[in-house]
Amino acid sequence: MNIEIKIKALRDELREHNYNYYVLDNPSISDYEFDMKLKELQDLETKHPEYFDESSPTIRVGGMVTKHFETVVHEHRMYSLDNSYSKEDLEDWEKRIQRNLGDAPVSYTCELKYDGASISITYENGKLVRAVTRGDGFQGDDVTTNIKTIKSVPLKLKGDYPKKFDIRGEIVLPFEGFTKMNEERIANGEEPYMNPRNTASGSLKLQDSALVAQRPLECLLYSIVGKETGISTQFEMLEKAREWGFKVPTVAKLCKNTQEVMDFVEHWDVNRHSLPYETDGVVVKVNTIQHQEELGFTAKSPRWAMAYKFKAEQVFTVLNEITYQVGRTGAITPVANLQPVLLAGTTVKRASLHNAGQIEKLDIREGDTVFVEKGGEIIPKIIGVDLSKRPNDSKPTEYISECPECHTSLIRTPGDAKHYCPNEYGCPPQITGRIQHYISRKAMDIEGLGGETVELLFKEGLINDYADLYELTKEQLLPLERMAEKSAENLIQGVADSIKVPFERVLFALGIRYVGETVAKKLANAYKAIDALMVATKEELISVDEIGDRIAESVVDFFQNPKNLDAISRLREKGVQMELSAEKLQNQTDILKGTTFVVSGVFETVSRDELKKLIEDNGGKVGSSISSKTGYLVAGDKMGPSKRTKAESLGIPIITEQEFLAMI
Ligand code: AMP
Ligand code: ZN
Repeated sequence: MNIEIKIKALRDELREHNYNYYVLDNPSISDYEFDMKLKELQDLETKHPEYFDESSPTIRVGGMVTKHFETVVHEHRMYSLDNSYSKEDLEDWEKRIQRNLGDAPVSYTCELKYDGASISITYENGKLVRAVTRGDGFQGDDVTTNIKTIKSVPLKLKGDYPKKFDIRGEIVLPFEGFTKMNEERIANGEEPYMNPRNTASGSLKLQDSALVAQRPLECLLYSIVGKETGISTQFEMLEKAREWGFKVPTVAKLCKNTQEVMDFVEHWDVNRHSLPYETDGVVVKVNTIQHQEELGFTAKSPRWAMAYKFKAEQVFTVLNEITYQVGRTGAITPVANLQPVLLAGTTVKRASLHNAGQIEKLDIREGDTVFVEKGGEIIPKIIGVDLSKRPNDSKPTEYISECPECHTSLIRTPGDAKHYCPNEYGCPPQITGRIQHYISRKAMDIEGLGGETVELLFKEGLINDYADLYELTKEQLLPLERMAEKSAENLIQGVADSIKVPFERVLFALGIRYVGETVAKKLANAYKAIDALMVATKEELISVDEIGDRIAESVVDFFQNPKNLDAISRLREKGVQMELSAEKLQNQTDILKGTTFVVSGVFETVSRDELKKLIEDNGGKVGSSISSKTGYLVAGDKMGPSKRTKAESLGIPIITEQEFLAMI
């Protein structure tokens, strides 16, 4: 068969399967068959680049990297919604509408308010051309490459669509996928994400679209804007969008009056937890587009739409016991173990109590009946106590004074609300936590080794610190549970490969308290090698930009501990990087020392991030806002006018990218 025809046929077929699977939830072939066909198409496309098509289903795999998200002005502004919280609010709104529209009968389309990140996607001649975040409503960021990886977003439309239009929707992360992502993170020793909404909006701004492709994001659509779309009601808009291949939830309902609207609201207030994604309310819209046009907009939102917000849910339950968890840094977190209770669709058994102060403030005691609330966060919190239900023999909570894991006396640092277990090298969760941090993605990123395996290896007595990882042998690993030949080899290889990780990340991986990624970079650049850092005094450390007392003390303490020195020398023996690479050293100078630069706008020869890196590599400092301390403003294209005015009024020199590059 002709190759071009074959490629086209495969694309059409895969597109249809994608639609059946992701939009209709009704797959007609197995995942395996799908993958084989996708692979076949990928191979053909690699061999025949002349048939490239930006709407090909292979685009979904991602791989394009966006260094800088371009700002794009919305052709049609993206508005907010007014909020209402009661039936009365809604009735008032209806009265205002009727006053505006006269006696014409008004009907409403009710939709769910999806809780995610808003997006506007432009289609031309049936093809996805651009996707832009809401931003400030007037302009947003171009995130097209990332949006194209979301499988329920059609790259090419079906049926009888308008020539050009924008479709508006919400990018959400359904609960199931969110939970799975968090399970993986915990297994990798990474902090779990707080809630699906923030994770969804964060995903849109990831630079590597292949990472976005791995996230189980969905796009739920609710509105079409454009000229001459031929659509006359909101409800019809939803139906049409569905016909063209978009994922539009089918729960929307056409209502004749506010009573029917309230029925819809009440139904979903109770039943929302059976939905696969988060909603925080209902959006009520005047159904007829002509009415919408007559009503128009206020400065901020359409007069023809209203959000009805659900209340955060609360329940009463009994607090059975307060237990205490020990984190990686030895920080103690009190946990409320509750009489299991149904809240926001899940059974809640535990709630965080944060710290001793929190318990004291609310006078929370075992045996109390407590108020539990769940907002956007996954872990519910206790917001109060029903004192009328307090048992007669109740006693105030006495906070623990010893570590529940190793029985060492706890300490408290002034200014820190938490208690700590100081037994860093003998307290099991601190030992494993430190190793888990060492192997985590932003630190040594050791492939083939996860957080649970670390715990297992520690329990079996095979590792006691991170340097021990480099001494593991296959013979030691094989007898372990669920450890096959292949996984043992991968683990050992992953550990061995980590000696290539650059020094600044090694420094972060060591787990010095208060030394996060950024501080580690600063220290690595300032001292170039661990030997120099090890002998630095507190005074010297403080003279490094942005290093304060607390960090300096912690660094000095760390290198005074013989256990750490021993681990470092063993890491060094195994070849782990203990100084900046020669290449990095070469590119570094002190020419800009003592000068602060503010960077604004879009640049031609280097990206904004590269520019910032150049400043830092040459000893300069990057500031975020202009003040009298700013040395130069490096101005690119489309620089914010307020920055320019401010710089001019303070007499700060404004230089171009070329002028800056000439300086170094
Ligand atoms: P707010 O941010 O509270 O002003 O609410 C407005 C936002 O709600 C919009 O930007 C949309 O992204 C979002 N939204 C979620 N679901 C819907 C829906 N069904 N119709 C309109 N907007 C929605
Ligand atoms: Zn302890």
